[in-house]
Amino acid sequence: MAWMAGLFRHPTLFVTGGKGSRFIDADGISLIDFNLADLSNTVGYGDNPVAQAVARQAARGAQFLLPTEDALVVAEALADRTSMPFWQFTISASTANMEAIRIARTITGRQKIVLFDGKYHGHIDPTMAEGGAPGSSIAAVPEAMGLSPHEAANAVNIPFNDLTALEAALAEGDVALVLVEPALSNCSLVLPKPEFLQALCRMTRATGALAALDETHTWAMEYGGFTRMLALKPDFITLGKGLGSGIPLGAYGMTPEIAEFVQRHRDVDIAPTRGLAIGGTTFANALAMAAARAMLTEVATIDAYQRIATLGQRMADGIDAMIAARGLPWRAFRHGPRSGFCLTPELPLTYAEAKPSVNPELSDARRVFMANRGIWDAIATAGPQVSFAHSTDDVDLYLQVAASFLDNLER
Ligand code: PMP
Repeated sequence: MAWMAGLFRHPTLFVTGGKGSRFIDADGISLIDFNLADLSNTVGYGDNPVAQAVARQAARGAQFLLPTEDALVVAEALADRTSMPFWQFTISASTANMEAIRIARTITGRQKIVLFDGKYHGHIDPTMAEGGAPGSSIAAVPEAMGLSPHEAANAVNIPFNDLTALEAALAEGDVALVLVEPALSNCSLVLPKPEFLQALCRMTRATGALAALDETHTWAMEYGGFTRMLALKPDFITLGKGLGSGIPLGAYGMTPEIAEFVQRHRDVDIAPTRGLAIGGTTFANALAMAAARAMLTEVATIDAYQRIATLGQRMADGIDAMIAARGLPWRAFRHGPRSGFCLTPELPLTYAEAKPSVNPELSDARRVFMANRGIWDAIATAGPQVSFAHSTDDVDLYLQVAASFLDNLER
């Protein structure tokens, strides 16, 4: 994949397989993975309940374009964890966000999408734009090549944790959807201020806009995501990545009002007018639904989340200790299983404050140093993060090798 080849700036590792928290490369070298395929494989590698469920389903059939019973169990488990009653399944988190945006635009009759600086919601045109803040002379423009300038023109990017900017963005009454990660997780880690997300949901409702929480990453940090942790009441929740344990799957949860709209506007081909353009041939496939059922019911249980939170704390405490021992003006990121190196004395509240911690040169040096010592470290914007497959020994080895990296860095 050209995207990852571009990100790593070193020769590509080829993988032959894995077991638990480790994968094995083509040279037979075993690496403990603290990036978890950017959180798309939090169950771990090799034989596990998800792999077994997928193998059983593959033998019966991978896709029928009809639901299997697993879809009901998965939807019920997601509803139980989030209080969001209705769910649709897609092929990825990107496509879940795409459909939530399309439905929000159809319901509201508005086009504008409010986003937050430092966000990432997938390689989709409406969210890959920068600029366009209210009152700013900097128009929104596509963030990369190949994206539609017409879509970018409808993007409004504002600072995370900034309710004044949000109020200004909503003031014209022309916003369809506010799309937000509960914690920015693609530019290191920016946690929400107390009440920020609650106020965001209230303010969108008051101005006729809808709110979508993109829990694609935060789902791996909290049982039921930040939605459950903070008892949030958004209009959509979007998911993907680890829900399918590497089998492509995305999902979005909806309120009863939105579900009723979707139900009423299904794309029935004998109707005189066409309905909502949503869905796809391999979306919600039986293989992915089997994976998600096993993940939710057998692996990602409330006890398992507690275990990885404890390991995450051990990781963050260890990072804080190695930073303090060397007198560096840094600190650990910490939330549940997620940690990392915050390269400023204070934790960031915005993307601007988080930017110094996204240091591709330092992170690349660390990643290569650690890979040569049996640890696969995170990409520049991410963890390390602990998965359901990691052990205390894995965390301790990470800390030992990371401390040795810092010693070499100082020399
Ligand atoms: N939302 C968030 C918050 C993400 O971090 C990502 C991927 N990093 C996506 C959506 C898109 O996920 P995918 O590429 O699996 O569709």
